[in-house]
Amino acid sequence: MTLESCVITEKKPLLSVSQAQQKIDDAIFPLNETENLPLKDALKRVLAEDVFAKIYLPTERNSAMDGYALKSSDLNQNETTILKNIGISWAGKPFEGELKTGECVRIFTGAVLPENADSVVMQEKVEIDGENVIFSAETKTKQNVREIGEDVKQGDLLCALGKEITAADLGLFAAAGISEVCVKRKINIIFFSTGDELVALDSTLKSGQIYDSNRYLLAGLLDDKKHNVVDGCVIPDDKNLLEKTLVEASKNYDVIITTGGASVGEADYVKEILARCGEVNFWKVAMKPGKPLAFGKIGACYFFGLPGNPIAVSATFEVIVKSALTKLEGANFKSVWQIKAICKSILKKSAGRQDYQRGILSQDDAGNFSVISAGKQGSNILSAMSKANCYIVLSADCAGVQVGETVNVILI
Ligand code: AMP
Ligand code: MG
Repeated sequence: MTLESCVITEKKPLLSVSQAQQKIDDAIFPLNETENLPLKDALKRVLAEDVFAKIYLPTERNSAMDGYALKSSDLNQNETTILKNIGISWAGKPFEGELKTGECVRIFTGAVLPENADSVVMQEKVEIDGENVIFSAETKTKQNVREIGEDVKQGDLLCALGKEITAADLGLFAAAGISEVCVKRKINIIFFSTGDELVALDSTLKSGQIYDSNRYLLAGLLDDKKHNVVDGCVIPDDKNLLEKTLVEASKNYDVIITTGGASVGEADYVKEILARCGEVNFWKVAMKPGKPLAFGKIGACYFFGLPGNPIAVSATFEVIVKSALTKLEGANFKSVWQIKAICKSILKKSAGRQDYQRGILSQDDAGNFSVISAGKQGSNILSAMSKANCYIVLSADCAGVQVGETVNVILI
């Protein structure tokens, strides 16, 4: 990139966070490839097709209680009734036969009701006298029966395409006898750190060197059952090597994420390489931390060039990359819930960019949320990030927050 083009780009107004999110949404197309998985391996994967019920749930009328099954027509109105206990219906071993007038059957939770029974009376509500069961005048009828299909009817849509499968879905599918599901394939992601100053954790630091924290941070952020993630290690600030590595990686992965070298310093080559080898969709966003953020494509591979500072990596991942990966995975859009909280710290802010300040959110006994600053807000301050449980989102035009003001936070 020449100095001239750099200056021209600087003059353009920065993209707002929502404009950047929209550009990503327009540019990313969900993967088409799918795979069939046994149910036990399907947690948190994205359904590639609608799942319908092949059976009714419950499939048979059964008891919701331990008690006695009877025909309501056998109970006397407003007086005690004595019925003869003629057998037992166990869960898994139904009573075979019908109730004749004056009869009842001992029944347990989940056991199938005799065909002509329509009520189960809880065992706590009856008295036993040998083979007779005594029902009081207050006995309620037509209770404690689970009807066929009251949960799910045959042919009902259980879950729609695009849903991320939850533990509850696994339970629902299993109950409906579904042993295999068709899901979107995992996305293949490789990430790199860039920078001559970065060294591995097992080396002794020389002057000017720092440990590479971003790759650990990113590995944590990317940990997801929908991803195959490869740590591509550190690339030094060597333009040719960087270019060669990124172009090679673009042939084998769906997504490349780099950190560092995305700004306008002498050793910041990422955007230049992206422009030469692929397409730059945008490379700056009006957010803080995280202004230099290159998004584009190299061949068919999506590329995210995140800033170098670890806090900017976290924030841009949360705000920009995460929803992009969701779209690529073919998963339904997940809205990020903003919580309103009373701010109990003074927050400094210069107008112009949307801030994601690190905060600590808490809830009092009455259920009210309040938030304090997690500490220093520099984009290198990892200790505050580690203490934080939320981002305090301050809009671009906000010029600071006083104690007692209401702010929006998003949970991390
Ligand atoms: P850069 O965007 O390459 O100019 O980096 C901005 C800042 O982030 C510099 O202080 C870098 O040393 C720091 N930085 C870049 N990459 C990493 C990393 N992988 N781990 C920790 N700090 C980093
Ligand atoms: Mg650098």
